[in-house]
Amino acid sequence: MSLERPRISARVRAIAESATLKVDARAKALRAEGRPVIGFGAGEPDFPTPAHIVEAAVAACREPRFHRYTPASGLPELKDAIVRKTRRDSSYEIEASQVLVTNGGKHAVYGAFATLLDPGDEVLLPTPYWTTYPESIRLAGGIPVEVFADETQDFKVTVEQLESARTERTKALLLTSPSNPTGAVFTIEEIEAIGAWAVQHDLWVVTDEIYEHLVYDGLATASLPAVRPDLRERCIVVNGVAKTYAMTGWRVGWIIGPRDVVAAASNLQSHATSNVGNVSQIAAAAALDGGLDAVAQMKAAFERRRRTVVDMLNDVPGVRCPEPQGAFYAFPSVKDLLGRTHGRVEIATSSELASYILDHADVAAVPGEAFGAPGYLRFSYALGDDALQEGIGRIQKLFG
Ligand code: PMP
Repeated sequence: MSLERPRISARVRAIAESATLKVDARAKALRAEGRPVIGFGAGEPDFPTPAHIVEAAVAACREPRFHRYTPASGLPELKDAIVRKTRRDSSYEIEASQVLVTNGGKHAVYGAFATLLDPGDEVLLPTPYWTTYPESIRLAGGIPVEVFADETQDFKVTVEQLESARTERTKALLLTSPSNPTGAVFTIEEIEAIGAWAVQHDLWVVTDEIYEHLVYDGLATASLPAVRPDLRERCIVVNGVAKTYAMTGWRVGWIIGPRDVVAAASNLQSHATSNVGNVSQIAAAAALDGGLDAVAQMKAAFERRRRTVVDMLNDVPGVRCPEPQGAFYAFPSVKDLLGRTHGRVEIATSSELASYILDHADVAAVPGEAFGAPGYLRFSYALGDDALQEGIGRIQKLFG
């Protein structure tokens, strides 16, 4: 027995704790102590899951066949619903054999990179990025290569930037539109141009479309493999029901990709988790087949809150908040508040600023550091209108 052996593997030691879940947990802990904390941390809709989805799940609970193991890659009825949904929402024709049902979109990201990457493969990662991406790329042995786009370019990377970050080791690009954390949405022309560049250089693209239905101002956008059929053999779509149907806790996502890649990812999943919970899968199928009315209602509420949060944040001296066009996050720059003293506390970083706001205003926001973008804060506006106004109002008072 060697005492020098580390207890935890280097691979897992290198993973950082999820900063978004950490902020949310700290906010909940303070609330449990009786503090009136308002949480802008969690990326989850505040609405209950629509009733027809819950009813489908209740019925599934009573069916003995759902008390058993089912195929690791997903229930046939859910895969068929995903095929129909992809045709309806993206005009993209796929077959059930191109679908793997996963334990949420997060697990889909993990499965995609674990299946695609060999040690040393580089993945171009538009930054600010969603916290989980670099960790799942590294866990698969890959190297995330950050490509930064700030608010002066609407947080959207250009083909020129991607091209200058590309090397002979680049295997894939990760695209997220609408984006968490910035709410940026790529136009059809931008998606088309990035797709053409990827085709030209034989790159894979993992495209995370989990916020596809939360796009505002009537902006037209599209799914990458729909606008670039010539990329379909090297494209993996990540999606899920969490954000669209207020189903974060049900844990259902999926990947769509070429048959060989999906078969390989299914093999991995058959040893890692087996099938996703059957009741959740039936609920997801009911969500996908149940139309988009509930989504439209949620979207209307998000649209209203977006205006409130952006207007109120821009009234805080030192905060500059661009208007996001999708998802449910505002991502203001707080650089003008840094390097200064607030209430006798010297604040140098956005991370310190987030702690200061939590300690002095009982408001939780996630620092930009969590997304590879120091100098910003992320506010999820998927919370009730009153709480939202009260929370940003407290920040106005703190710095006003
Ligand atoms: N992709 C993005 C961009 C996200 O923001 C999230 C949730 N924060 C997910 C994927 C994963 O969602 P889930 O695992 O809950 O389906």
